[in-house]
Amino acid sequence: MFLVSVVSAWKIQRSSEERRRVMEGRKELNRLPEAVAKRARRLSDRQVSVAVVGAGFSGLACARTLVDHGHKVHVFEKSRGAGGRMSTRRTDFGSFDHGAQYFTVSDRRFAPWMNSWLQDGLVARWNGGIVTLDAGGSQPTEGKTDRFVGVPGMSAICRHLAVDLGVSFETRVEKLERRGAGWRLAAESGADLGHFDAVVIAVPAPQAADLLAGTAPEMAARAAEAPMAPCWAAMASFSAPLEVGFDGAFVLGSPLSWVARNASKPGRDGRESWVMHGSPDWSGQHLELEEEDAATQLLDAFRAAVGELDSMPVHLDAHRWRFALPQKPLPEPCLFDANLRLAACGDWCGGPRVEGAFLSGCAAAGRLLALCGAPG
Ligand SMILES: Cc1cc2nc3c(=O)[nH]c(=O)nc-3n(C[C@H](O)[C@H](O)[C@H](O)COP(=O)(O)OP(=O)(O)OC[C@H]3O[C@@H](n4cnc5c(N)ncnc54)[C@H](O)[C@@H]3O)c2cc1C
Repeated sequence: MFLVSVVSAWKIQRSSEERRRVMEGRKELNRLPEAVAKRARRLSDRQVSVAVVGAGFSGLACARTLVDHGHKVHVFEKSRGAGGRMSTRRTDFGSFDHGAQYFTVSDRRFAPWMNSWLQDGLVARWNGGIVTLDAGGSQPTEGKTDRFVGVPGMSAICRHLAVDLGVSFETRVEKLERRGAGWRLAAESGADLGHFDAVVIAVPAPQAADLLAGTAPEMAARAAEAPMAPCWAAMASFSAPLEVGFDGAFVLGSPLSWVARNASKPGRDGRESWVMHGSPDWSGQHLELEEEDAATQLLDAFRAAVGELDSMPVHLDAHRWRFALPQKPLPEPCLFDANLRLAACGDWCGGPRVEGAFLSGCAAAGRLLALCGAPG
């Protein structure tokens, strides 16, 4: 059982981790102005209520860590399910990882989590044949990269992290308002979403900047310094396997940047489904296309990149990722204001991509734990 392995891995690290956190907490208190420190000391080691905005990997990593330390967390997510840019689109013609394709592990803090997910079958190694495609044909990619995917879809890990968390889906947080020492959140509909001691904003940087502008202009300005490139993703299903000689390709000199045979990933439903990503330049220049037109143009680019296709798709669709990849992530692992009890995290803080998002969410939780402690 995943939770058992994670809990035991976590226990081994816990005593030294807790000592480190207590020390960090003391240092944090010493750095604060006396009035703020007093308020933080009052919070120390009592359960605090935290609103997390965004149920992507960073928001869920943060929420999970805070709940595991005894705090009361509620997550608000504007879409229908957990995952954000690690979502999986399910259709009658197969499923598609239309955002993140796979992830790699380079940070030793991420590795134990990854290993526990591997053991529990939530994640598996993707051994697909990956090439680079350009006008001269295809070449195998250089070097060895271990690529991992969620099973049966990229969203599996996020859905797992969300188990037992309080999450309100289809709830877009529109407004944050200071109320006393805490926060009141309002939905797009104007509905009151409740009062919280602390808030964590775990959404792409431009959306974080918008949300924070009214109440935390400095943090908003910092988030605005992390622009994000868009990406059009086309999803196509075919009635028979395409004989293209690869499962994934980085595409050069094309409107495309990447294509992948979704069915070559472990634990998929076996349908011949392909995901095609537009390059940041092409996606930016064609951002306002209708979905149907974007899908057709990316399919044409796929056809041009591989020569010809054996068959026409039986299903073709597209998704516009307006904020896909951070262009220049901020150096700090998260943004944090102890006075406001406000944090912001995501792949645009610290390091980009899936691993960076996870570590950023953990960092935001760590800053709050250092300030508020953990109830007994
Ligand atoms: C096309 C594409 C390909 C990618 N490929 C890879 C890859 O191969 N490998 C890799 O490692 N990474 C890849 N990435 C990046 C990876 O997906 C992200 O780094 C990671 O998923 C970011 O997680 P996050 O939690 O920071 O943000 P997100 O996943 O964006 O989560 C933010 C969540 O907040 C929600 N939200 C936003 N505003 C509000 C609001 N006001 N109220 C409530 N909810 C809100 C959103 O709906 C979303 O669910 C790719 C991304 C894209 C788009």
